[in-house]
Amino acid sequence: MYIDAHCHLEEATYAEELPDVIARALEAGLSHFIAVGASGVLAGAHEAIALASRVPQVFATCGVHPHDAGSVTPSVVETLESLLRAPKVVALGEVGLDYYYDNAPRAQQRAFFEETLRMADRVELPIMLHIRDAHEDCLHILDHIGVPSAGGVVHCFTAGPKEAEAYLARGFFLSIPGVVTFKTAELLREAVQMMPEDRILLETDCPYLAPVPYRGKRNEPSYLPATAAAVGMLRGTTGMHVGMAASANTKRLFRLPCIMTSPS
Ligand SMILES: [Zn+2]
Ligand SMILES: [Zn+2]
Repeated sequence: MYIDAHCHLEEATYAEELPDVIARALEAGLSHFIAVGASGVLAGAHEAIALASRVPQVFATCGVHPHDAGSVTPSVVETLESLLRAPKVVALGEVGLDYYYDNAPRAQQRAFFEETLRMADRVELPIMLHIRDAHEDCLHILDHIGVPSAGGVVHCFTAGPKEAEAYLARGFFLSIPGVVTFKTAELLREAVQMMPEDRILLETDCPYLAPVPYRGKRNEPSYLPATAAAVGMLRGTTGMHVGMAASANTKRLFRLPCIMTSPS
């Protein structure tokens, strides 16, 4: 009944524990995982595709994180586009702009982001955005290049109602992380209260950002129900209800084949 719409299930993090991590999540009521392949320059993409081919409940995304936008060459762009056509790859991402860390020059981040928006249209996949301290530039680029026809999601959405409105108006889904349980996330909680139910996704972004009461621990998909419960509380409903709605939204956005559904 829950789907983790954005998780990093990497060997470097979970090593031989990964099968247990997945088993715990299934036990906690998760049915599927969107494994993000965007670390390194395509190493993560290959890893996510391999994981999706081994584990029936896992789907993959491929992208290059804005942190690494400075290392993107034309041949990386070409390889990325071909990886996106692999089986079980359901989105292009995470890609976008990160002006908080500024690990890559902003001009290069913007140029690659524009390239990925056009690529998403070519491969007919939704785009999965990572936007940190850069909403204004992101919206400007979206309006200039256009939102991909398969739509997209702002992953780890932690901004307020104003930014939520802007993305919703452009047809985006908003993926809510465990940050919604943090004391300081007042604006995010306001945004969560005004979002239409059919645009909400839930994610862990594990291994980071574990929700309360797991805050500070290594995050994992089995903690997702804590985030769902917090969102449910804010919206006057249950975590289970939010989980079901978010699952349906995730399936719709990423066009997950129903035939793969295997509720645990
Ligand atoms: Zn991210
Ligand atoms: Zn991520």
